[in-house]
Amino acid sequence: MTKFSNYVGRFAPSPTGDLHFGSLVTAVASYLRARSQNGKWLLRIEDIDQKRNQKGSIYSILKTLEMHGLEWDDEIIYQSQRSEIYRFYLNYLNEKKLIYKCSCSRKKLINYYKNLQTMEYIYPGVCRNKEIENKDFSTRIKAFNTFNIKFTDNIQGSIEQNLEKEVGDFVLWRNENIASYQLAVVVDDEIQGITEIVRGSDLLFQTTRQIYLQKCLNFKTLNYAHIPILLNKENQKLSKQTKAEPLKNLNAKENICKILNYIGFEEFIINYLNKNSKNSIELINNSVPYFDLSKINKVISVQFE
Ligand code: GLU
Repeated sequence: MTKFSNYVGRFAPSPTGDLHFGSLVTAVASYLRARSQNGKWLLRIEDIDQKRNQKGSIYSILKTLEMHGLEWDDEIIYQSQRSEIYRFYLNYLNEKKLIYKCSCSRKKLINYYKNLQTMEYIYPGVCRNKEIENKDFSTRIKAFNTFNIKFTDNIQGSIEQNLEKEVGDFVLWRNENIASYQLAVVVDDEIQGITEIVRGSDLLFQTTRQIYLQKCLNFKTLNYAHIPILLNKENQKLSKQTKAEPLKNLNAKENICKILNYIGFEEFIINYLNKNSKNSIELINNSVPYFDLSKINKVISVQFE
């Protein structure tokens, strides 16, 4: 039986379509990081928003991971089955008087300032002291400006944000009666015992919210490493919306070599690994000792060739 260290990493895709090259870069980087620390690598399917889920994409994501030799540990967690757990923590925050009901519609939000880094509206707490009779409401957490939230990202360096000024009170429970991404991700990372999150830098400025929530819930704060996201020729993030091509599983070895190049492996090492690995499973696992987080480009995004 494998003896793991205390390191626990994870990959948490939303099943909104097939994996594309950008999402596989995140999977490979988090896998190699976890294995190079002798840690576990867990898989969580973030399928809470049923309207965005695409039929067949869970199967396709798992297949792509398997074909690229990315073997996860323990059972897969599905967020769609965990509403009661998220509700429990929401109630805890309610007892601490940290949350409130908000009946502001999306349309109303456009009256507020926008944070140009995240392109999100900064909600100034309009409903904080209102009695909400309306049945259609979301639940927000009060983001008090008592301190700036700071953390040191293991790739991007020092990050600091003032939640009240730069984010505002954010949603924990959506008006469709489901937990928000922020609440679900923080609760699951704690329950799964994650020690470090390696993910795309499009989520870098969501992290301060997650650290604030961890503090409100008395959870421990995790380590973070945000890898550069890949942009297409029009400078858009590779995604299904920007018509990123789905991956070809039959080219798994070739895909991995290309990814190793993006995450800082030198060319002669990639050639050596490729030559000495019979298949993708061997290739990914032979790469583990050569993985070095400090070699990853310390930028927010890179152009995809
Ligand atoms: N489910 C998110 C996504 O697919 C990732 C969330 C996370 O890594 O925290 O973009």
